[in-house]
Amino acid sequence: MSFETLGLEPRLLQGVAAMGYTIPTPIQTESIPHVLAGRDVVGCAQTGTGKTAAFVLPLLQRIEPRKGIQALVVTPTRELAQQISEVATQASKFTGHRSVVIYGGVGYEPQLQKLRRGVDLVIATPGRLLDIHNRGSINLKNVKILVLDEADRMLDMGFWPDVRRIIALLPTERQNLLFSATMSSDVVRIAGATLKEPVHIETSPTTKPAEKIRQAIYPVNQMQKADLLVELLKGGDLNRVLVFTRTKHRADRVHRILEKAGVSAAAIHGDRSQSQRQKALDGFKRGGTRVLVATDVVARGIDVDEISHVINYDMPNTAEDYVHRIGRTARAGAEGSAISFLAAEETSVLHDIERALGEVLACEDHHGFEYKERVVPMADRTVNTKSRAVFSSGVMGRRGGNRRIGRR
Ligand code: AMP
Repeated sequence: MSFETLGLEPRLLQGVAAMGYTIPTPIQTESIPHVLAGRDVVGCAQTGTGKTAAFVLPLLQRIEPRKGIQALVVTPTRELAQQISEVATQASKFTGHRSVVIYGGVGYEPQLQKLRRGVDLVIATPGRLLDIHNRGSINLKNVKILVLDEADRMLDMGFWPDVRRIIALLPTERQNLLFSATMSSDVVRIAGATLKEPVHIETSPTTKPAEKIRQAIYPVNQMQKADLLVELLKGGDLNRVLVFTRTKHRADRVHRILEKAGVSAAAIHGDRSQSQRQKALDGFKRGGTRVLVATDVVARGIDVDEISHVINYDMPNTAEDYVHRIGRTARAGAEGSAISFLAAEETSVLHDIERALGEVLACEDHHGFEYKERVVPMADRTVNTKSRAVFSSGVMGRRGGNRRIGRR
């Protein structure tokens, strides 16, 4: 799947390329065609899934540059507003659309000045937008598209009365897009009241991973993760390995450590240019590069068969990310393994993962590796309880065996 096939016009595709995106994320693939077709959309998606571009790109295609405010994005926080504004600015680099970002806690004048000069898209937090409207400084009568971003957080933060006031200022004939990380009954209710026959989009709900994936947890001290990774890679069966880290910085660091240890590796993340990413990916596909170190978002676009092992150097933030990550192996009928390094500070997510999978994952030690002090999940954990998994600290893994210290 490419951005071209989603129906985006060439000038937006130029912007997409300049942003360094090559492959759309699942939420982008699913939502862009519907938004382009003018449908209302409810998207259940968290930050990190690429949801911003999923609405910004098609929205820009549906509004005309230099024709006044035709689209409004309402979002709960200043940070989110800024992020959306950045994506909008980059995406519209070749289209001529102008946007303004409006939020409180800063002076009015720069925002008003931009409005006076003319904008096509407004990205705003509710309170300041209403302030500016009350001063008579903004005309929302020609808004054709409304985006409610992070609807659940707006509800939690008590912004809903303001959002309703804003909606009342808009023409009733309009397209509505609502995004929310969770679909609580309140969100469903407001979606029902605001949207017309919306298309529901959910980014890959947590599903059980393929049976062919062998999964194991390797409890390890944070300080020993790098050593354990290098040690594991001495084994010959790990021939095409995708390693996940929590941050871009850590991806670079692991990459350097591997190169130093003589392992052919490359890193791929959001700070790399498109050509750097492509080069890394090509090397990995051809087999010249044995280990590819990646962060979650970038990895979503990686379509490489025959990945023998996925190693979670850092545990993912959510069970859903876990399923996404390990789904990179055992594709096209091949067998695969997923190994997750678990440090003391990462233990809480293990419980969520096991609940989502409906099974307790086996904990293992790597034969011959000298473990130092660490925290190890208890062998008698159970799933589907409300309580958190139980952990004990101490040196559990003695040397001399691929000893299983948990149970399935
Ligand atoms: P979001 O969920 O919108 O906050 O996006 C999370 C991160 O993913 C941002 O840093 C985006 O720049 C990045 N991103 C969004 N879409 C893509 C894509 N198709 N390919 C690579 N990175 C992307």
